[in-house]
Amino acid sequence: LRALRTSRSNATYATVSRLLSTLAVLEHRGGKVSAGSLPSISAAVAIGGPVTAFVAGADSAAVAAEAAKLEGVSKVLHVPNGAYDKGMPENFAPLLAENIKAGGFTHVVCAHSAFGKNIMPRVSALLDVQQISDITAVKDQNTFVRPIYAGNAIATVKSSQATNVITVRGTAFAPAAEGSNAAPVEQSTVDPNAPQLCEWVEENLAKSERPDLATASKVVSGGRGLKDKENFDKYMPPLADALGAAIGASRAAVDAGFADNSLQVGQTGKVVAPQLYMAVGISGAIQHLAGMKDSKVIAAINKDADAPIFQVADVGLVADLFTAVPELTTKLEAE
Ligand code: FAD
Repeated sequence: LRALRTSRSNATYATVSRLLSTLAVLEHRGGKVSAGSLPSISAAVAIGGPVTAFVAGADSAAVAAEAAKLEGVSKVLHVPNGAYDKGMPENFAPLLAENIKAGGFTHVVCAHSAFGKNIMPRVSALLDVQQISDITAVKDQNTFVRPIYAGNAIATVKSSQATNVITVRGTAFAPAAEGSNAAPVEQSTVDPNAPQLCEWVEENLAKSERPDLATASKVVSGGRGLKDKENFDKYMPPLADALGAAIGASRAAVDAGFADNSLQVGQTGKVVAPQLYMAVGISGAIQHLAGMKDSKVIAAINKDADAPIFQVADVGLVADLFTAVPELTTKLEAE
């Protein structure tokens, strides 16, 4: 009887393993796979089973070809339809849900980016499953680790759902590397051509020569201590440029209009984990720490020696930023 049970459970396991398959939804911009999507492929690989990359949008053949070269990708599902450009969720979510159903995928992963946060909850609702958000580790195909309470606690969640809709914290997984062998690119036959509930009119993108905040290896962030926008613009860009860093900001600085919303770091902004994170005039509220505490080296400049930022900082300077930042910038420029 025991032997029969064992062979049955092995058979069940074999069936489950065989069916295990993950769809990795890729974001793209300017004809290239977005760097922020690459860690979600690594998460998909960690789940196990074959990984199918999903690419949709007009003129996305080059993106599909690039995706086919990524290590860990076994197939690319391509929907070359302009209705899915710009990741408009009203169009994209039904497309994705139908492709998930048609492909029988057990897992669907996407970056925990603005795109992923917009699309995946809608897909979860359409599939009537509960989303597993912002995972930082894969324990096994059903068990995932994710931060809760703004990163103050770490939950390990076990799913018994047939389809797992997952968003991935980019800083927790290594980006998938470009591999040597090309996976096949298959054109999806599922294109629900959902009614055009919304139409793309235009976009006004902030242009910057600086590295992208989400993927930069160095970030300098300014807070309310800078006092106003004029000071933010006067002190932060020269410091960033001297270091070759991206600029970030606290929510207080964003809310006060010192910096654009896209620069916000924290619980309700971007989560970053650069090699160097420098906080200037930022107190270190837990909601800010939630977005940067995994940085390799944290440096802080604050005039208050008791500011909580110093509890997480590797290097701290208790000083008036209006004196310290120009001095530091000049020294860095001289190097
Ligand atoms: P403050 O807390 O006012 O700190 C300013 C610091 O500057 C002080 O430590 C002060 O000593 C220092 N300073 C002042 N003058 C000088 C000077 N001349 N030289 C040197 N230092 C000086 N915050 C985020 O940042 N990101 C988020 O995503 C985020 N999400 C949130 C979500 C929720 C639901 C809530 C409730 C809050 C959120 N917050 C977030 C807000 C957060 O609680 C803090 O209010 C915010 O981070 C404070 O920003 P700050 O450190 O710039 O400002």
